[in-house]
Parts: sequence; C-alpha cells; structure tokens
Amino acid sequence: MGYSFKAAKSKRGPCLYPVKPACTTKTCKAHSVQNSTVLDLLAEGGHVIMLRTRRVDNGRLVRAEFKRVGRNGATTLEGVCAQHDAKLFAPIDNRPLDLANREQLFLLAYRSVLRQAHAIPTGAALVEAVSERARQLGLRGLKKTDALGRPIPHLRDDIRPMGVERDAWDRSYLCGSFDDVEHEIAWTAPSQPSLAVSFFFSIGSNSRNHRQLPVALNVFHHDNRHAIILSYRKPSKPLAQDLIFALKRTSSEERFRALSRLVLKNCENIVLRPSLYNSFGEEQEQLMRDYFVGTVRIPTFGGREVQPVPRLVRNDDVEKLNLFKAVTR
Ligand SMILES: [Zn+2]
Repeated sequence: MGYSFKAAKSKRGPCLYPVKPACTTKTCKAHSVQNSTVLDLLAEGGHVIMLRTRRVDNGRLVRAEFKRVGRNGATTLEGVCAQHDAKLFAPIDNRPLDLANREQLFLLAYRSVLRQAHAIPTGAALVEAVSERARQLGLRGLKKTDALGRPIPHLRDDIRPMGVERDAWDRSYLCGSFDDVEHEIAWTAPSQPSLAVSFFFSIGSNSRNHRQLPVALNVFHHDNRHAIILSYRKPSKPLAQDLIFALKRTSSEERFRALSRLVLKNCENIVLRPSLYNSFGEEQEQLMRDYFVGTVRIPTFGGREVQPVPRLVRNDDVEKLNLFKAVTR
C-alpha cells in the first residue's frame, strides 16, 4: 500500500537534514505544521484537538483517539535537529505565506515528506521492538491480522520506497530546483479556522513498475477559507490531478465532506479547533474514528479518494464524516 500508513509513530531518530556526512546532532521536537501561521488560528486556550492513531494490545491493534493537546505539543516532527529545522524552514516559519511562492510551496511539502521519512523507519523499529518484547515474555500467537481480519501492515516494507522518494526531494532542495515539485491548490468556501493537516501519502501505484505515487497534502486556514494544497513530483502528476479535479468538481458544501473523507482516509495528525470538536455529537465522533481506523491499508486510487469507501459507512451516515461542522440528524 506504500507509505500512506497512518499508524507510523515518531520516535527519536537521526537528523534528516540532507547533508553528507549526515548530521549527528540530536533531533528536536519541531512542528510539522507551522506554529504561528496555522496552529495559532486553531488553538483555543492554548490547546488544539488532534485525531491520531495509537497502538494498543502490545502493538497489535490500532485505535483512533481525539486528543486535546497543548499547542506546543501538536504535530511534532522529530526529524531534524533544532539548528537544521530553523535553517530549513525559516522561509515558511518567519515570513507570511504567499501561495504563489515556489520556494514556500516546496518547503510546505518537504516538511510533510521529512515527517514521513522519519516516522516510517522509527515506527517500524518501535513495532518490532514491541513484538520482540512480547516474544521474550512468551506471549505466543501474535496475530497476523487485525480485528477485522486484515493483515497487520509491515512498516518495514515502506522504508526503502520512502527512502528513494526522499532522496529525490533532497536533491531538489539542495539544488534549489523547486520547480521539480508541482502544486495544485483548491479552496473551501469561506469558513472559520477548522482544520490543519500536513501529510505525505501514496494515492496509487504505477501499473507497470508498481512504484508508489505519493503526494503531500497540506490543508490550513488562509484568507478566511481553507487552502488545500497537493504537491507532487512528475510521476504522481496524473493521479494528483485526478484527485484535485475530483475535489474541484464538488459543490461548496460537498467539498467540506469530500475533503474530510480524503483526510480521514489518508492522513494522520489531523488538527482541529477545540470548540468545533466539542460540537460534534458522540455518534459523529465515533463514525469519524471508525472511518479513520477502518481505512488503514485500504488501497488508494487518485480521484476516488474523495468518495466514501463502500461498506465502511452507511449511506445515512456519510454526511456525518464532516470535520468542518457538527451534523446531528
Ligand atoms: Zn541536524
């Protein structure tokens, strides 16, 4: 399925700043979503709500939880050391975002790439350490499938393709070839600050060489509405364009739902405004969590990503998969 895996967890790892020999400074907790420009708009009383996965039962099961977290603890990227984080992302952290600026658009996406490049190998190591501990404790019969009978994903399989992809992004960064990465931008209707996402995931694979076709998705409030930015290298272009056109074809109300489904299916570290989250009923909250977990490792294919996954949610309930507003009936 490629590196769309939502349950990749960040842990300590090497600094990923693209330099040879590799930087050996300790990594720091940096933000994978811009603090001042994005998180501040969502925070209330210094907090935001995050939807994220948690491994339970000795790492065998994935659960979803909405969690209230301090604005400073939200969406941390433990991929680069403090010095390199400041150096890399100064152009987007210290200057207002201009969505016509190629360097800023590149860096927004590159941050999503580095987060996954860090999360996948450290997540795989974590899962393996947990399994190893279980073996040592004599816990036999570690399941190979999850509660719904699907194979438990092997993060390790995603390490190599993610490394190849990251190398390409690193080269573009080092050469300042920001045009290697293309961007498509769609907008929601005017809305209150509701959602922020920054994630890198595969939206399909090449039918001939089976290579994954990844995109970076960044969603954040900008100019009184939400910007939806897809960033990708050439091989992903046809599928990425299918996806953005599928979004652009939706009416303004439907676009909120289509975007919500895309995000719930493919992304991790989803950040919400607390009062918006508090307005969701218990049923709506549960449906979102079920959809978020139920879509782990469901194959992806371009434009269809905005459609509801068949059989995962009843027709009457599809409307409730809306991260932008409470739906009670
Ligand atoms: Zn460093």
